[in-house]
Amino acid sequence: MPSSKKAKKKKTGTQKQGSRKLRESLTKKKDRAQRILGELERLYPAPECALTHESALQLLVATILSAQCTDERVNMVTPALFDRYNSAQAFAEAEPAELESLIQSTGFYRNKAKNIIGAGQVLVRDFNGDVPDTMDDLLTLPGVARKTANVILGTWFEKNEGFVVDTHIGRLAHRFDLTWSSRDSKDAIKIERDLMEVFPQDRWTDVGHMFILHGRAICNARKPLCDQCTLTELCPSAFEHEKDANAKKKKSRNRGVAKPKSKKK
Ligand code: SF4
Repeated sequence: MPSSKKAKKKKTGTQKQGSRKLRESLTKKKDRAQRILGELERLYPAPECALTHESALQLLVATILSAQCTDERVNMVTPALFDRYNSAQAFAEAEPAELESLIQSTGFYRNKAKNIIGAGQVLVRDFNGDVPDTMDDLLTLPGVARKTANVILGTWFEKNEGFVVDTHIGRLAHRFDLTWSSRDSKDAIKIERDLMEVFPQDRWTDVGHMFILHGRAICNARKPLCDQCTLTELCPSAFEHEKDANAKKKKSRNRGVAKPKSKKK
């Protein structure tokens, strides 16, 4: 295959819409990450977890509920839930059917209820009813994987042990080109490791919150609002989505122009 064709094939085969990769050294990437962080801090001076909570236990339960569900929906459900169950013991002794009815609208409610009751039981049995503050202990709770544990450690205990890579953070890591994982990769562990490398540890939790805020307000999944974004100079994907969309439109217009049929002889 001629080299130009090869290059073309490679580009179309791996390019994720709306994001672009840079060739830059780790030092340059870290420097760019630092400048992105500076602008995000200006835009979002008080980044906070979007899940409403008043205790580590409430944050734990809200985070379990947030799997495959929006934070807004979880925040609609938790006031009544936390009125009804106010301790690990109360969750441990909950009737599955009653708990399920209170969390039904968050989806996957049977499994979530089972995990919440199970987590309550482990908290009572092993941790005196308190939410533990180490990764190893948190991972012993049903329904708690590294992502949930990172939310609790970072947001409640202010321990920066990792990044919580959700859909917004994964998307922005790709668009800012702050991950070395391939464009289509949704490998949260790999993206987390890359973000941990380019951002200072004491800012990990806040960077996560700020990525989520920026992802919701400006850098939307379907149509990033690059013309309203103040990070265009630091973002290799600025206006790429628009270019991709225009190219797509042009292609489909061209396809619509029927080729004249050749006459049979
Ligand atoms: S310039 Fe801003 S809105 Fe556009 S892709 Fe980059 S971060 Fe997202």
